[in-house]
Amino acid sequence: MQLVHHAESLRRVVRAWRAQGLRVGFVPTMGNLHAGHYSLVALARRHADRVVASVFVNPTQFGPNEDFARYPRTLEQDRAGLEAQQCDLLFAPAVEEIYPYGPWQTVVVSVPVVTASLEGASRPGHFDGVATVVSKLFSLVQPDVAVFGRKDYQQLLTIRRLVRDLGFPIELVDAPTLRESSGLAMSSRNQYLSAEERERAAVIYATLRAMREALRAGRSLDAVEAEARLRLEAAGLRTEYAVVRRAEDLGDPAPNTRDGLIGLVAGRLGSTRLIDNLVFDGV
Ligand code: AMP
Repeated sequence: MQLVHHAESLRRVVRAWRAQGLRVGFVPTMGNLHAGHYSLVALARRHADRVVASVFVNPTQFGPNEDFARYPRTLEQDRAGLEAQQCDLLFAPAVEEIYPYGPWQTVVVSVPVVTASLEGASRPGHFDGVATVVSKLFSLVQPDVAVFGRKDYQQLLTIRRLVRDLGFPIELVDAPTLRESSGLAMSSRNQYLSAEERERAAVIYATLRAMREALRAGRSLDAVEAEARLRLEAAGLRTEYAVVRRAEDLGDPAPNTRDGLIGLVAGRLGSTRLIDNLVFDGV
């Protein structure tokens, strides 16, 4: 696997692949890779002849009081892990490579509608940062296919709209969420949790499954949301939202709708902010 820090070298390699008619897959990450990330690389392999992963902790998607400075940076470990996954190229640019005018004087890509609520409301500017960096990475890598996890469901919808609206000729593949045996969704942020918090964090997935069961049992959307919040709070999660939305666009479902729904949860355990979701098929 090649490790590349500069856009120019990246372009040279990708151009040579494309000249040979090879299909290029891309997995963007912020590093500190875990089995969830590696499953995206494996999925990219199935859709492409060559796989590029990027590791870039993107400053513009972090709020002023968020964990940008302390976000875990483990490039050597990530490099070894990607190599073991038969990734072909790791692109690990410096901030100046992605933001030649600096992160706060960048062109900004802003995706409306699907970013307005939930994570967008809790984290102002977050999705502008995501849409901007993903646009830049797409322009630099020029992949044929890119893989994103459903773990960050609102991000996935944002990238879908971005690709369609800006006409990037890129096929998007979404990947299922990998979980610990407790049900906790794997996340780089899980390592901020104490052993005791990690155990309690299992309540998030348990609650999402209970929401699905309650919908199947015919409970109203309002009741399902209220019960979910109670359950999460009882386990000590300071809940930001525990909601049922339309999976298609995260809008509020009509009261009697039972098709195409998704449950989404965000909250804090100690200082660690966790998110998760579950698409409610067949309720
Ligand atoms: P991040 O490094 O957190 O920005 O995530 C990079 C990519 O990995 C995103 O597309 C995430 O949705 C995806 N991802 C993160 N956690 C998981 C997981 N537990 N299972 C599958 N994909 C994940």
